[in-house]
Amino acid sequence: MISLPSRAGKPDSTLVKAADVARGIVLEVAEAAEVGDHLGAHAEGERVVTHQFACARPGYPGWYWSVTLTRAKRGKDITVNEVVLLPGDEAIVAPAWVPYKERLQPGDLSPGDLLPVEDEDVRLVPTYLVGDDPLDPPMDADDRAQVRRVAEDLGLGRVRTLSREGIDMAAERWYAGSGGPDSPLAKSAPDTCATCGFLVRLSGSLAETFGVCANGNANDDGKVVSLDHGCGAHSEVKLARKQQPLPMPEHAFDTLTDDEYELI
Ligand code: SF4
Repeated sequence: MISLPSRAGKPDSTLVKAADVARGIVLEVAEAAEVGDHLGAHAEGERVVTHQFACARPGYPGWYWSVTLTRAKRGKDITVNEVVLLPGDEAIVAPAWVPYKERLQPGDLSPGDLLPVEDEDVRLVPTYLVGDDPLDPPMDADDRAQVRRVAEDLGLGRVRTLSREGIDMAAERWYAGSGGPDSPLAKSAPDTCATCGFLVRLSGSLAETFGVCANGNANDDGKVVSLDHGCGAHSEVKLARKQQPLPMPEHAFDTLTDDEYELI
């Protein structure tokens, strides 16, 4: 069942009666077998009416033909504005287009690819506004200028650094990801990263929640992990007696030589 768009206004009666004209127009662009029943007509505006016909073209279930007709005031001649094939509510159509920046996922960037960051990207601020707001509490103009000069010097050559918003966005992403407390690895871990000797501490506000795993045997080696994440490679993990490997038996030396073998 196709639900047709409804328009306000009374449709022009001459144009509404011109369903056969509209069908003839559709038949100029489609085979007769591809044009189904007349589904209705509605006004697009003053003396502008659109007729719809079911589409029977293979591969287009739920689509319909749409023909828009018009005529001049007090004129009898009908003019065709357009004829198109349109998707109805149940038609199979491509998903809505998403800008490439919103489609990008970590790992999509190949060697040599460039991904410029826009000037107004909310994740970044000029270096002198960096991080945990050095200008808070309020200062007078001289103090602010001095802080900015020092911050520029300490910016280590960076024009921009993470804004508070950028920090929060990263923290939310990391916490919800595989290095957070809800990953399957963390849920079955014997203890958390907070007590693990392999955790490298960060600095700044992110250090309250995150560190970097430096255990080469762990899945998260080199990755940011939350302090309440964890894994089975925790530095203090101990095996229970029944989990420990069984001791190997003593080696048995086979001293039989080829000559001795012949004598057996
Ligand atoms: S080894 Fe495991 S518990 Fe230790 S820091 Fe890495 S992920 Fe966390």
